[in-house]
Amino acid sequence: MEERQRKPHAIIIPFCFQGHITPAINLALKLASKGFTITYIHTEFIHHSISKAHNHNSSTEVDFFAEARKSGLDIHYSTISDGFPPEFDRDLNFDEFWDSMFRDFPVRVDELVGKTIQSNPSSVYFLIADTFYSWPAAIAEKYSLVNVSLWTEPASVFAIDYHLDLLRENGHLPWNGDLERQIDYIPGVQPISKRDLMSYLQDDDVTTTLLKIVIKGFEQVKKADFILCNTIHELESGSLSTLNLEKPTYAIGPINFDTTFTKISVAKSIWPESDCTQWLNSMPPGSVLYISFGSIAQSNKQDIGEIANALLLTGVNFIWILRPDIAGPDETDILPDGFNNRVKGRGLILSWCNQNIVLSHESVGGFITHCGWNSVLESIWYGVPMICYPFIADQPTNRKLVVSDWKIGINLCDGQQLTMKEVAQKINLLMSGKTSDDLKQEMKKVSKIMHSALDMDGSSQRNFVQFLENLKVNLY
Ligand code: UDP
Repeated sequence: MEERQRKPHAIIIPFCFQGHITPAINLALKLASKGFTITYIHTEFIHHSISKAHNHNSSTEVDFFAEARKSGLDIHYSTISDGFPPEFDRDLNFDEFWDSMFRDFPVRVDELVGKTIQSNPSSVYFLIADTFYSWPAAIAEKYSLVNVSLWTEPASVFAIDYHLDLLRENGHLPWNGDLERQIDYIPGVQPISKRDLMSYLQDDDVTTTLLKIVIKGFEQVKKADFILCNTIHELESGSLSTLNLEKPTYAIGPINFDTTFTKISVAKSIWPESDCTQWLNSMPPGSVLYISFGSIAQSNKQDIGEIANALLLTGVNFIWILRPDIAGPDETDILPDGFNNRVKGRGLILSWCNQNIVLSHESVGGFITHCGWNSVLESIWYGVPMICYPFIADQPTNRKLVVSDWKIGINLCDGQQLTMKEVAQKINLLMSGKTSDDLKQEMKKVSKIMHSALDMDGSSQRNFVQFLENLKVNLY
């Protein structure tokens, strides 16, 4: 068969967290809609969790892409063990889990990639793996695959992680210098202070598993052929242009809102979603505060108590997502006594919802967010100003983008202990008055930039086309 007639086939392996799964599935659909064959690989645990969430707890496994195939897409899924049974608590045993993910998981990925390629040797395969994995370059090299790294956080975070060597040289990893000194030497990144760095770079301990994941991932990414970033060129042009000098880097975000395929339903959520549309319909426009700390971050009983008391003080309508593990595995009764009764009719506490449905509803006027990158993108897409309350990883850096660079959100607690008084004050600022109007005004501008990027001739669409052209040159 002539080389050019061989069909391009992407093997896509997302990181095993909600915030990485959704963009990877959407990228898979986008590529499939351009005529690519896709093998999308979930860990068995994630596959099982999503199946359970969508089958009301029944153990029947979901065929993720059945509907997509009915629409003519050549897209299939496969699963791979992460080495632990479903009941193993991967968060509680984070270090043990990741030791195994570094050591044993790559062996299983290698086997599965080998088998996938053997099953249809007439295709031209390439690899799309999450940047945080420690093995893509080795696997790509073994099977002579073009290696595409999928980055699901801001480009500025990527740029800082890419230059960990500069942080080391300047005495900032570990941090042993002046606390006030700005980091002004990362190519393409505006000067940034310690408090705005990713949590694993603020930590005095440089042996944390989180930092290990980043170090290993970024050793690998230096050998990748292409980087795909779920961000928008116009919002991060400095970091992106500079990264492009190192490696072909394409901002193709926000991938979750690409309308080419969003009508195809694919199960993505790892927890069952409560439907709150009816409740939202009964609320006045712009009156509801949405609060969520994403899929991973854990708070504590004291801070949750302060937020709850602030909600009582302000009288605001709200939806608050409190995952069962939000205050750690052993903490129950985390809300103040009688809280539920006192907010009856104006407050909903849920363990998980469809966040996009909530944020897109006209009754929602503000979002207290942990600043996970998907949540930030979603909030901007729907034009909802934010109160930023970051916990870990890239969240403090994302907060800087939202608050200092784009001015579409305000800080909560700013490194201090959270108090109900401060939370109440910030909620009032967010929901009405001059600050609220200013934030909405800026939000309109940023949201417009984001929407334009996904127009037919918008920057993200053009970048995607350019990526496909360059990819094909490397594939054939
Ligand atoms: N999310 C959701 N329902 C919820 C809370 C969160 O669907 O109740 C989704 C949210 O829309 C986002 C993802 O979970 O797409 C969380 O990703 P993000 O990057 O914001 O944070 P992470 O969970 O990675 O910390």
